[in-house]
Amino acid sequence: MIQNSGRPSLSGNPLQAARLIEEAGRCVACGLCVPHCPTYRKTLNEADSPRGRIFMMAALLEQRLPLSPEVLQHLDLCLTCRACENACPSKVRYGWLVDGMRTWLEPQRQRPSSQQRLRRVAFETLRHPQRLKGAGWLLWAYQKSGLQQLVRKSGLLAAIGLKQPEALLPTLQKTRDLHGIHAASGVPRGTVALFLGCVAQLTDAPTLSAAIFILNRLGYSVDVPHAQTCCGALHQHNGALDIALALANENQRAFSIPGIQAILHAASGCAATLAEQAPPLPAPLLDISTFLNQAQGWEQVKLAPLEHAIAVHEPCSSRNVLHDRSAAYQLLQHIPGARILPLAGNDQCCGAAGSYALAQPEMADLLLRDKIEAIKASGARIIATSNPGCAMHLVAGLRAEGMAIEVLHPASLIARQMGYENA
Ligand code: SF4
Ligand code: SF4
Repeated sequence: MIQNSGRPSLSGNPLQAARLIEEAGRCVACGLCVPHCPTYRKTLNEADSPRGRIFMMAALLEQRLPLSPEVLQHLDLCLTCRACENACPSKVRYGWLVDGMRTWLEPQRQRPSSQQRLRRVAFETLRHPQRLKGAGWLLWAYQKSGLQQLVRKSGLLAAIGLKQPEALLPTLQKTRDLHGIHAASGVPRGTVALFLGCVAQLTDAPTLSAAIFILNRLGYSVDVPHAQTCCGALHQHNGALDIALALANENQRAFSIPGIQAILHAASGCAATLAEQAPPLPAPLLDISTFLNQAQGWEQVKLAPLEHAIAVHEPCSSRNVLHDRSAAYQLLQHIPGARILPLAGNDQCCGAAGSYALAQPEMADLLLRDKIEAIKASGARIIATSNPGCAMHLVAGLRAEGMAIEVLHPASLIARQMGYENA
């Protein structure tokens, strides 16, 4: 079970410089975090390490360092992967610090007006499901009509700077509305709620449907409340803590459902935010894999064998924030014949990191290349990951290399082996 980590309440005014300075002051500069930092490992520049960033943050807050494009670039290059937190003996809350710092800095940043507009549109689209649905429909039509192929060949995307973000688009499927109650089949064993996520509803709909399919087959009814909304991760990590707080309140109300055993998620990136938000969710928040590992009813289902190696990619949100690394491995053990192995380099971020791959494409690509090499070396035919953002990034990298390797959520793979066709 994921407990609320005791992260200071977003409503507790974490933006006060004094609190940020106090947190930065807990760093004793021992440097134990430095070799764990993916950006430091690439640039070997102290300013791209956690210790260097904490030093700069404190200096900015105390007005000992002027804000410059160079300083901002070192701070922006941080993935918020939080590998440094795991290594820190002083338990510096780096994630809280950098999120608070970005919000503190935002009014001082001079962004081009086009970038400001884009941020506003992105923030607002994510918090309004109808707008997101409209955007999803347009993207689906773009792919389905064949326009995508024409546009890709035309060179237009490169000319307008959209080649890289467009390459991240997975093949979208026309999705059904999952909101409502999905009744269990067979012996009833209880009711759980399912968190859909915002973008994941468009890009990872098969996983969400697969999760409902498995739960229903094992005897669990699934309540998918209409009023749920985005987790607020993008807002929280990009200097808009106020919007993240509003979204946390909306989700808190939406999931106040009497009698549910747990709130399940199929996206560790969203869950990492939900788990630390205040107000906390009104029921335990669990990874779908974790819940399925504890679930009853497996004797009622049969899984087809799969004689493949399946490499598990561990998202940073699972490793460094939720501290829930083993669930995917355990769940995949249900597949007869499958050989489950960890992907080498799981301690390093893949570079997806929310919107990072769009904002910092060069570093994201460097980190992705390491993953592609690890996948090649693994000999795996399937990569399993519990975060759709990582999945999209890995798929884009594999596609660019012409590698026909599937990237799936563990629940999708389990559902497929149970005979579910849409997984
Ligand atoms: S969050 Fe990740 S990228 Fe940022 S300083 Fe820590 S280890 Fe480095
Ligand atoms: S490990 Fe912790 S205390 Fe040591 S330098 Fe890194 S953040 Fe500071």
